[in-house]
Amino acid sequence: MTARIIDGKLLSNAIKEEVAQRVATLKTNGLTPGLAVVLVGEDPASSVYVRNKAAACEKAGLHSEVIRLQADITETALLDVVRGLNANPRIHGILVQLPLPAHLDAAKVIETIAADKDVDGFHISNAGLLMTGQPLFRPCTPYGIMKMLESEGVALRGAEAVVVGASNIVGKPMAMLLLAAGATVTICNSKTRDLPAQTRRADVLVVATGRPEMITGDMVKPGAVVIDVGINRLPDGRLTGDVEFASASQVASAITPVPGGVGPMTIAMLLVNTLEAAERSAGLRV
Ligand code: NDP
Repeated sequence: MTARIIDGKLLSNAIKEEVAQRVATLKTNGLTPGLAVVLVGEDPASSVYVRNKAAACEKAGLHSEVIRLQADITETALLDVVRGLNANPRIHGILVQLPLPAHLDAAKVIETIAADKDVDGFHISNAGLLMTGQPLFRPCTPYGIMKMLESEGVALRGAEAVVVGASNIVGKPMAMLLLAAGATVTICNSKTRDLPAQTRRADVLVVATGRPEMITGDMVKPGAVVIDVGINRLPDGRLTGDVEFASASQVASAITPVPGGVGPMTIAMLLVNTLEAAERSAGLRV
């Protein structure tokens, strides 16, 4: 079998276009959705992500601000910046680019973001709302993956879904969204005893570990849908996922490429979350 490629670029472009239309309508009513992205330090990968997010905002007609802060900023000063954005009426979404330098407590910084501007969906109250089945903001990466599965017509009700990776920003919220869609969900982590036995059961396999090409074709159930969240830069400069594409694509029925799969969807859903935050601030949505 040769898997169908799930084109995240194409789907994300369609979503971004729809966002642009909704933004244009809001603007005629005097409301421009605004996103603030806070970048601490000069991590090259983070700088690229932030630049891409700002560019996507501008293209869709949103207002965007990038706040660049020195790597040695104190936690108190950073929290003051966040509080200032909480109070800024032009800003509807706030995103603090992770990872933060080690001397800063990321959890504390995220808890300081106003929950109704937390477009990443990482605030503890948004995580709780997701957990209890009443999400306000769905974290962008898992949200984008749900959109991909929906656009592919993947039946999740009763399906075996296996999520490899259990981070707060990808694995756990992914599992919650799949569960809410009626899948039977298994979450694996680095301590999982027999990982291939778990992954081979999956009708839908989502991999988010940051371990280049760790999932090989022999770990994939024939006909499975494989979603590769990983973005890894190899020593030779090549970008690769957490799935070995060459072998997995011979077994799966559909698979996301890296790059061009999950990555572009994450940015599209950030725009959706910011737009919806703005709509909510104006009482146009609950
Ligand atoms: P984290 O490092 O926070 O979490 C990795 C998770 O994978 C942990 O739960 C860890 O287990 C688990 N893990 C690590 N090794 C193994 C293993 N050998 N077997 C099973 N599980 C394992 O990573 P993130 O969730 O932040 O990111 C994961 C990947 O996704 C990265 O490559 C990142 O770059 C990418 N990413 C891509 C995005 C996109 O938009 N496409 C967005 C966000 C991330 P344990 O809990 O036991 O430590």
